[in-house]
Amino acid sequence: MKIHEMFLDESNRRVCCGKSIKELITAGGKKHLWDERKGNIIDTVVLHYISAVEVVPSTPFCEEAILKIFCDYSVSSHYLINRRGKIFQLVPEDKRAWHAGGSIMPEPDRRIGVNEFSIGIEIVATPSSGFTKLQYESLGKLCSLIEKRYCKEFTYTGHEHIAGQRAVKLGLRKDVKIDPGPLFDWELFKLMLDKYRMDKALENIGRLPSKTPAPGLRQARRASSVQDRPDVTKT
Ligand SMILES: [Zn+2]
Repeated sequence: MKIHEMFLDESNRRVCCGKSIKELITAGGKKHLWDERKGNIIDTVVLHYISAVEVVPSTPFCEEAILKIFCDYSVSSHYLINRRGKIFQLVPEDKRAWHAGGSIMPEPDRRIGVNEFSIGIEIVATPSSGFTKLQYESLGKLCSLIEKRYCKEFTYTGHEHIAGQRAVKLGLRKDVKIDPGPLFDWELFKLMLDKYRMDKALENIGRLPSKTPAPGLRQARRASSVQDRPDVTKT
């Protein structure tokens, strides 16, 4: 799986709708669209959708237009997965991205300020488009890779679950978030995640020294050891 770096910082010369990301970010008086995490705990992934449907309705999945939205609104996310499943990294994982806003984890967790301890993943989709098979595949791969690197299972939640009515009632935010919404198939995502978790587990088993060779290998070893014995080869 290839992850394409597209950091939302002043070194980025990619042109989005006539201006470079560098120009768009520095125009807002910033060097990058993230800040420092205050703690070391990262144990949650927040899933979102994003599109440019309100800016360019004819091409809602246009990457440049979506990157421009991040810059124009000074928001960010660690990863962006396009419709073909291509993964872009926009923010280093050890930095705090600005994707959740005022937020509170579902019961019984109840931690607030979810940006602090989470990794944000934006999946390119409109409220009505649904998500592609390639996006679920890439999401499963990416999340299993994250878990492997941190050596633990993560908690997965949606923006709607941490920034909905409950967050508004508690005075953490004014608007209600609805993404990734009812068209996001959590079951399929969990299936993909489990599939790639298993692949990773098998990879690890493959790397361990094998105490019991496979039957075919055992036979081959026996054959070679017979040939190597001087008393057998002399006859
Ligand atoms: Zn969101």
